[in-house]
Amino acid sequence: MANEKSSFKLFIYGVLILVLFLAFVQLFVNGSGLFFTLELIGFLGLGFLVLLGFIAYKDGWGENLFFFVFLAYLGNLVLLWTFNGTLYATLGLLSVIGFLLSFPRKKESKKLTPKQEEPHSMVFDPVVTKALTKHSPGKYVASSKSNIYHAPKCEWAKKIKKDRQTWFAEKEDAWESGYKAHQCVE
Ligand SMILES: [Zn+2]
Repeated sequence: MANEKSSFKLFIYGVLILVLFLAFVQLFVNGSGLFFTLELIGFLGLGFLVLLGFIAYKDGWGENLFFFVFLAYLGNLVLLWTFNGTLYATLGLLSVIGFLLSFPRKKESKKLTPKQEEPHSMVFDPVVTKALTKHSPGKYVASSKSNIYHAPKCEWAKKIKKDRQTWFAEKEDAWESGYKAHQCVE
């Protein structure tokens, strides 16, 4: 599993965000009037997104929220620089690091070429299949391009594109439609 790597990344995010947010408070806590209000709203808004980001991190899209938070933080620094003339270089650097770290990669499902998605091609990439895990409106699924059906949890089943999925409620239904069971079907 790639979990070790992603929890390390999550740790980096945690540290970056903690430092940035502590500094954020310092930036506006002594301010007043509209500046204080706007920064406070920004702070709370971003804080909420960060919280959501940590909750959703395992689902993948939490990282996109971090990306937005770093971007907004950077934008805030630029605004401060423009209007107050104060450049917070260290904070800028930290948020750029976070920004680059969380920069959204191309959707992994786009990497799938028609050949790779075939249930029994030789190409097998668990990272790609993971992104395609989805709902299962039946008990067994087959690709319209093959004659083999799978349990939805099977790695091959997850490779089948949505528009090529054929679902069966029972093994018998699949059998009658001319499909054979993959070894993943007990
Ligand atoms: Zn299978």
